[in-house]
Amino acid sequence: MSKLLTEKVALVTGAGSGIGREAALLYAKNGAHVIVSDMNEAGGLETVDKIKAVGGDARFIKADVSSPEENERLVAKTLEAYKVLDIACNNAGIGGESNPVGDMSIEGWKKVIDINLNGVFYGMHYQIPAMLTQGKGAIVNIASILGQVGFMNSSAYVAAKHGVVGLTKNAAMEYSAKGIRVNSIGPGFIKTPLLNQLDEATMNMLVSLHPIGRLGESKEVAELIVWLSSDKASFVTGSYYAIDGGYLSQ
Ligand code: NAP
Repeated sequence: MSKLLTEKVALVTGAGSGIGREAALLYAKNGAHVIVSDMNEAGGLETVDKIKAVGGDARFIKADVSSPEENERLVAKTLEAYKVLDIACNNAGIGGESNPVGDMSIEGWKKVIDINLNGVFYGMHYQIPAMLTQGKGAIVNIASILGQVGFMNSSAYVAAKHGVVGLTKNAAMEYSAKGIRVNSIGPGFIKTPLLNQLDEATMNMLVSLHPIGRLGESKEVAELIVWLSSDKASFVTGSYYAIDGGYLSQ
């Protein structure tokens, strides 16, 4: 297999589980040095072990994406370790409280916005200056199909993911001519621990929403993330790519 990311330095948030873990693994398999970041230390270290087991290079840096200071420290530590930052995948996110708007708690709203939207802003806010010093970089922000349409009882999540799509467009307008491509992706429902809390009936209902007749796999999403991060996507910026088994086609 030809490697798409040889010697690139790639940072992935929320890389201790699910989509982030598979993206980190595929970055490494494609030759990148990977900064595995997560709030969950055990999960992050397990991802590093998995990368090392296939001969890749990775190190874990703990960070809570909802903290501006921790995002700043994460980028500073990345530069300390590798001198440059070529790729960032802003992936960390939570499902959050399930309630209609009138019942959604203020804390529940703020928590999702803090992690799923503010976390992406804080990430880019510190990643972009690091990328500008070498005049190139690629950022992939993980939005969702729910960055395009609503979903019952998920207002904070839906608002945050719509926000990520808009924020991505703006950053792309501001930095593409300076060498930094910024894109977002919108996975349909993917089999990850994020969905663990759902019962079987809900899972079956979710499957029925995907014309392809199944949920997605993290590995499938990682393929798109790696492609968008690579020079193969050199003219792709400011875009939103659905990867959703046809969910949005209906
Ligand atoms: P996941 O398996 O739950 O993994 C998310 C990881 O992020 C976990 O390790 C989690 O730690 C960590 N995390 C949570 N809050 C954090 C914070 N404040 N700072 C740093 N790390 C934090 O979820 P996933 O399904 O892979 O989701 C990854 C991204 O894809 C999210 O942005 C999600 O919204 C998006 N997405 C998922 C789906 C889906 O169906 N799974 C669909 C569309 C979009 P803990 O384990 O300690 O919580």
